[in-house]
Amino acid sequence: MLFDNSYQNLPQEFFERINPVPVKDPKIIIFNTDLGKTLGIDPKMSEKELAKIFSGNEVPEGSSPIALAYAGHQFGQFVHQLGDGRAILLGELSTPDQERYDIQLKGSGQTKFSRQGDGRAPIGPIIREYVISESMNAMGIPSTRSLAAISSGEQVFRETLLPGGVLTRIAKSHIRVGTFEYFAAQKNTDHLKTLADYTINRHFPALKEANDPYISLLQTVSDLQIELISKWMGIGFIHGVMNTDNTSIVGETIDYGPCAFMDEYNPGTVFSSIDTHGRYAFGNQPLIAQWNMACFANTLLPLIDENSEKAVTKAQEVINDFPKKMNEAVMGVMCKKIGLDSSEKNSQELVKNFLNIMLDNKSDYTLSFRYLGESLKSKNEDLLKAQFQEHDRLSDWLLKWTKTLKSKNLNKKDVVNMMDKTNPFFIPRNHLLEKIIDAATKHNDFSQMKTLLKVFSNPYKEQPENEAYSKPPKPNEIVKQTFCGT
Ligand code: AMP
Ligand code: MG
Repeated sequence: MLFDNSYQNLPQEFFERINPVPVKDPKIIIFNTDLGKTLGIDPKMSEKELAKIFSGNEVPEGSSPIALAYAGHQFGQFVHQLGDGRAILLGELSTPDQERYDIQLKGSGQTKFSRQGDGRAPIGPIIREYVISESMNAMGIPSTRSLAAISSGEQVFRETLLPGGVLTRIAKSHIRVGTFEYFAAQKNTDHLKTLADYTINRHFPALKEANDPYISLLQTVSDLQIELISKWMGIGFIHGVMNTDNTSIVGETIDYGPCAFMDEYNPGTVFSSIDTHGRYAFGNQPLIAQWNMACFANTLLPLIDENSEKAVTKAQEVINDFPKKMNEAVMGVMCKKIGLDSSEKNSQELVKNFLNIMLDNKSDYTLSFRYLGESLKSKNEDLLKAQFQEHDRLSDWLLKWTKTLKSKNLNKKDVVNMMDKTNPFFIPRNHLLEKIIDAATKHNDFSQMKTLLKVFSNPYKEQPENEAYSKPPKPNEIVKQTFCGT
């Protein structure tokens, strides 16, 4: 592993230097060999050695472990100090392809940011994060990655005793909107500027030449959020805790907690047990992203202009543009899902009408779109129809849709191709995750997790032998709530 650590050169208020707390008996649950290769990790390293390093029992050469400071708005309320309470950044890896990635252990023991927490993680949430983050990546959604899951041989207490573990997470960086809020709340403009300049240098070097680099930073980060959230909307992903401390500055999906995929389409869908008012419901995500970007804009004001009124006016322009841009991006994604590349008014109407029928029919979000493509491919509408009760209403819509496709003179093959690429067959549904977590936690059985990972590594491809994994839950399998389980 080739470390090239830069964050630790920032002022000491940015982090705490601290080593991971060793665990009793580290064993590999799974190691992501492909990702390891990309990162330049020696493929000859023994399982024992991997377990030692990725549990935090041995700090690898070149690592300089730190826990990062950050703040954040949680469910709208500002918390001035959060920080890595159960995670430690081993450092930054410089890959053979000259990329830079953070390598972080999660569940690695207490830090000065732990507050009441034990710094540990049960293997349930670790498996959840591993499988969902890798599935997101396979679907082409920007996300942190999972390199390793280790069982610690220790138990952690969460209402009951559960087996503990450590997850190794890879990210472009761990800078969050909350990191900016941390220094903004302290009115420490020097540190804020250091952080903004570091962010620009590391992630967006082209902005150094911009006339107004900090406005450009706001614009760039907002655009990345728009791209990310529009992609979430396309696959029915609900993050569940879109707090500003869980909003990555580089637009990666980060901090998988009670996140979940929607089965039946309904914009009001909420799974997280702590989201009692539905602030982070599926359909609210675009609006919340805007709210989060307004928080980000607020932190940058002193850097944007010394004159606070001028700064507000400039930042406001970016935020005002957000809803329109977001709507265009979401519609762009949704139109592709019905095989239409352009998101003109007529296409948007078709999308909205299809969604309305799905809502009234409690149709499965993933399969309805997927089988819509299949209906075009094979001319067989049976699978699609099975998702709907109102067949006449569906037929009317199909007629309008096929007419639009014809009027645009589109090549059927291209349409089917586009639909196949935007409509996954396999998503990590709650009931499937619950089963693999149960097997792991109760029976120390990780084989089902590995099977699922394989299926989800090819989410857009038909896999007839694995069709059962594409199905929504049976009534007795429905999972209504998900938990942080931290
Ligand atoms: P998250 O749920 O990952 O967004 O975490 C929110 C905050 O709670 C972060 O500051 C975490 O570091 C902290 N936290 C969550 N679980 C624990 C834990 N078991 N021990 C210490 N801190 C924790
Ligand atoms: Mg978090």
